[in-house]
Amino acid sequence: MNGKIIDLRSDTVTLPLPEMREAIAGAALGDDILGEDPTVHELEERAAAMLGMEAGLLVISGTMANQVAVMTLTERGQEVIVGQDSHIYNLETAGLSTLSQVQVRPLEVIDGTFDPERVERLIQAADVSDVQRAETGLICLENTYNLNEGQVITPENTAQIREVANQYGIPVYLDGARLFNASVALGVEPAELCKDVDAVQICLTKGLGCPLGSILAGSKPFIAKARKIRQRLGGGMRQAGIVAAPGIFALEHMIQRLEDDHRHALKLARAVSAIDGLAVDPDDVQTNIVSPTIVKQGWDTDRLLEKLQEQGIKVKKIGRRTFRMVTHVHISGEDIDRVIAVLRRLFQ
Ligand SMILES: *Cc1c(COP(=O)(O)O)cnc(C)c1O
Repeated sequence: MNGKIIDLRSDTVTLPLPEMREAIAGAALGDDILGEDPTVHELEERAAAMLGMEAGLLVISGTMANQVAVMTLTERGQEVIVGQDSHIYNLETAGLSTLSQVQVRPLEVIDGTFDPERVERLIQAADVSDVQRAETGLICLENTYNLNEGQVITPENTAQIREVANQYGIPVYLDGARLFNASVALGVEPAELCKDVDAVQICLTKGLGCPLGSILAGSKPFIAKARKIRQRLGGGMRQAGIVAAPGIFALEHMIQRLEDDHRHALKLARAVSAIDGLAVDPDDVQTNIVSPTIVKQGWDTDRLLEKLQEQGIKVKKIGRRTFRMVTHVHISGEDIDRVIAVLRRLFQ
């Protein structure tokens, strides 16, 4: 082992770059609950502009952004359509049912496409004469979709969902934790990916290297209401410019470089697909996430994790025979070569 730990468990394991620490140290600050933190204002305005939205709101995490968004857009007792593998449904400790008190209606998402016909079949139209059904109050999209696959949702697909939603007067929310990965992979502006949704959140911590923070963006009335709900949850912050400052750096300097992460992930997927004992389809790797399956007798994820750990490589267990590798700013081309070499040796 040559010292450096290669940590591929997630793109959230990054440590802030020296430039981010400098930005934190030099940030102009004020009390943000009083609306007086200039660095927070700058980040909220810049992020909203990039996303093509009127206003933005800094929150501490993607989970809080999602929950605040749903609380803002729905009423108790409604239904919310979500992707069956989405974060908001699977990894937010039942926030939808406990905080917003909505009922989840999961949607099967095949090959990273939100099929408008399937969505329409799940919609329960508001109908006062039907006293039994709960009406659909919101459709939640996610881009990139599925945190073990990172599939890109196209602007065309988003537009199709918008069209269906419009027929029933239902708002559309986008969990864009890794929206910039989708933007870079498709070569389209982030705003293009948001033009058919009412509100969106992006994570500053996923691939962009920030220590914390997400931005929720939408119309001015939406953000005004979301700001109050954030406060209700205890999410109002005082000198939050220390959170916003690295975010501004990230929006300027950390997005284009996601191309490197995607290139590294594809290289890794191609090499892994050629290893006897591991299976992955490189065509499935659209962004920075590679999730192979172990197909060799006598091997399972626990054993592989142990063997990789001995070599200073960390990956994330997904299932008994599946694991995940996510590329990010601390993973170099040489690191990828080393991971490939170690996997080849293990499965020889
Ligand atoms: C990580 C993630 C979140 C939650 O972000 P946290 O900052 O970890 O709370 C939400 N949605 C998706 C798709 C994510 O990948």
